[in-house]
Amino acid sequence: MPQRITVVGGGIVGITTALELQRRGNQVTLIDPNQPGRETSYGNTGVLSDGSVVISNNPGLRKRLPKLILKKSNALNYSLGFVLKRLPWVARFLSYCTDRHLDHSSQALRTLQAHSLQLHLALITEAQAEHLLRKTGWLKVFRSDASFEAYEMELKVFERTGVGHTIFSEEELKQLEPALNPIFRHGVLLHDACSVSSPAALCDAYLKLFTEAGGEVIRDAAKSIRNPGDWEIELRDTASLEADAVILAAGPWSAEIAKGLGYSVPMAWERGYHWHLEPGPGSALQRAIHDVDAGYVMTPQQQGVRVTSGVELNDRDAPLDDRQIEQSIRSARQATTLGDKIEETPWMGRRPTLVDSLPMIGAAPRHQGLWFNFGHQHNGLSTSTASAEILADLISEAPVIIDPSPFRPARFSL
Ligand SMILES: Cc1cc2nc3c(=O)[nH]c(=O)nc-3n(C[C@H](O)[C@H](O)[C@H](O)COP(=O)(O)OP(=O)(O)OC[C@H]3O[C@@H](n4cnc5c(N)ncnc54)[C@H](O)[C@@H]3O)c2cc1C
Repeated sequence: MPQRITVVGGGIVGITTALELQRRGNQVTLIDPNQPGRETSYGNTGVLSDGSVVISNNPGLRKRLPKLILKKSNALNYSLGFVLKRLPWVARFLSYCTDRHLDHSSQALRTLQAHSLQLHLALITEAQAEHLLRKTGWLKVFRSDASFEAYEMELKVFERTGVGHTIFSEEELKQLEPALNPIFRHGVLLHDACSVSSPAALCDAYLKLFTEAGGEVIRDAAKSIRNPGDWEIELRDTASLEADAVILAAGPWSAEIAKGLGYSVPMAWERGYHWHLEPGPGSALQRAIHDVDAGYVMTPQQQGVRVTSGVELNDRDAPLDDRQIEQSIRSARQATTLGDKIEETPWMGRRPTLVDSLPMIGAAPRHQGLWFNFGHQHNGLSTSTASAEILADLISEAPVIIDPSPFRPARFSL
């Protein structure tokens, strides 16, 4: 039976969820204080990955920990105050650095991402957004033999989970990506992955499908969500909404909103930055490139070459610290020719990360009609469409194509 459903949060996860629920015949309202798709989903690297299956808290992390703690890797920056305040979260996050969890999470993420990519490809065609899409893969490059050898664990996981990949030698890399300077010894191309030249434009294109089919978007913030009979969503500036069901999809803000309903969600924020640079003369970059040793990614975007940083552990709303992205840009200039910075200041987004590095997709444990879809950490652009499908299947009690159990909220005692 059709329901009145409110989706709280209009990032890529909220947008795709609203669209899918609308397609199942529901009357869907999407609420967001900003223009949808302008927070984390705006500034990411734009990779639609089918192979981001090795989570950060894998068994190899323990070995790399001393280097990371001493801030000798650009892949991580952290605020000591934040880490001390969030020590229980950090301890739980590290407790997942086991072979068993790597096996479990990589299988779960692979299934989610592979299916999601197929759904994206169909939706991109339907949304007439093919001009944003690049089917050129996702390239990891290594500056030394030693760093490539240290990547062995990832390659084994790719084999085990069926992630399509091709290994490139120094010479072959020159053919594949002529814009790269000859400083890389090895490359691994995830050849089935795709990317987009503007994640924000992709959000807009999907949102247009939703609004053109009658979906309502309200530019306001959910202040509280209550369940006095029907669901009531109190908004900051406008009248409250009533709904039969509520989807919480507010990315890094979800834990705070869920707290108002009595849930303690084990979420932290892996902040990340981007800055655009003018492309240099000569060959243009063809794809997103992860310079593994230097801990950053660069990708050609509509706005310029977007350099994105690794992880910064800090309060969600702490002031920007541009040291990591500045280092990333210095490294990117070694890798390719780049012009001036385009903006005055960098952009910052927050990857919403749960302690086991898997998203939470499914029924809220203690409230009927309340559903969660958040915690997509490093992969939310990639995983959004399949997460929306899982949720819509669960809500309509239809058979779920993907096993939803690794993502069920009740895996934690919230
Ligand atoms: C530097 C960087 C690079 C990345 N690269 C990639 C990549 O290449 N590929 C990939 O798949 N993923 C990538 N990610 C991760 C990806 O961007 C996120 O996982 C994804 O954007 C999360 O989407 P979301 O919809 O959950 O959150 P968001 O996009 O943050 O959306 C949440 C929305 O909730 C709204 N909101 C907040 N409070 C309220 C409220 N009270 N009421 C209503 N709405 C509210 C916000 O305004 C926001 O629009 C990257 C992330 C970063 C930071």
